[in-house]
Amino acid sequence: MKALVYEAPLVMTVRDVERPTPGSGEVLLRVAYSGICGSELSGFLGQNSLRTPPLIFGHELSGVVAATGSGAVGVEIGARVTVNPLVSCGRCEYCVTARHQLCRDRLLLGASLPGSNAEYVVVPATALEPVPDGLELSDASMAEPAACAVHAVALSGIGAEDSALVIGAGPIGLFIVQVLLAHGVTRVLVADRNTDRRRIASSLGATVVRDGDAELLADVRSETQGRGVQVAFDAAGTVTTRTNCVAATAPGGRVMLIGLHADQTTLPVNTLIRGEIALHGVFAYNPAAFRTALAWLAEGRLGLRDGVVEADLEDGLGWYQRLVEGDPATKVLLRPAGLAAARLVEADR
Ligand SMILES: [Zn+2]
Ligand SMILES: [Zn+2]
Repeated sequence: MKALVYEAPLVMTVRDVERPTPGSGEVLLRVAYSGICGSELSGFLGQNSLRTPPLIFGHELSGVVAATGSGAVGVEIGARVTVNPLVSCGRCEYCVTARHQLCRDRLLLGASLPGSNAEYVVVPATALEPVPDGLELSDASMAEPAACAVHAVALSGIGAEDSALVIGAGPIGLFIVQVLLAHGVTRVLVADRNTDRRRIASSLGATVVRDGDAELLADVRSETQGRGVQVAFDAAGTVTTRTNCVAATAPGGRVMLIGLHADQTTLPVNTLIRGEIALHGVFAYNPAAFRTALAWLAEGRLGLRDGVVEADLEDGLGWYQRLVEGDPATKVLLRPAGLAAARLVEADR
């Protein structure tokens, strides 16, 4: 089968690799769509210890079941599915309390397991989520970033009367905007460096604030009667965006840290203390958030189309390069088996 293989920092090649065989409790999927995740860009640059070459990236996927291993009961060949790519032990204290994302033995598709930037991928049958009728496989492949947003908003405990700031209008930031609006939060402010992304955030119903540090804070104050927001979401993860989140948050508020970028950040801790501002790390999603995201995509409460690019696997390297250079595409969906196959997969039903 064809696969886009990460060979070394900044090097990916499309080459023939052996098609994997599903073992006990596993299934083989023909991949329709495989989204490029921001978290993979540091891997592509060789700055992520989780991703070592040779490796097939890809954990945001949809496709159809092509074969099943023994013990993969109740899985139908041809079923349209997406995949929760965080594979956890299922037995530890975190797994049994529905916090699978904190499992010490967790594995991630496309990092510790071969991913979906390939015509076929093997996943555990327990990771499958059926794609609801009427939801296109291209949209279903975005359940994973949407789940990150559902989880972040749930952990924030935000109420409809509260105001929110989202810094970083990439896919997760844009999904956070949609989830907040779906929760009835009416005052949703967004900051991003990129004009296209600001326009998309605005079209979704957010109020765009200016991006420069001083301007951002001035705009947040004028939008919140001088108080600051109750909850700030950092979906970028730089020293600057984290600092701005703290500065823009009202006393008693929370800063939700989602973006993984800078490992070390200096923050005004005295401001946090005097304002009783809580910092909350947010990682991935639990299974319930993943299912909610998929259901909301199917119901049309969530969904990104603006700036979403579909590309063949052969163009994958080019897109990783462009995204590293700051291309504003909202999401790049690779079609590992090509356009015809992606369409065929839809028509196969
Ligand atoms: Zn992702
Ligand atoms: Zn576990």
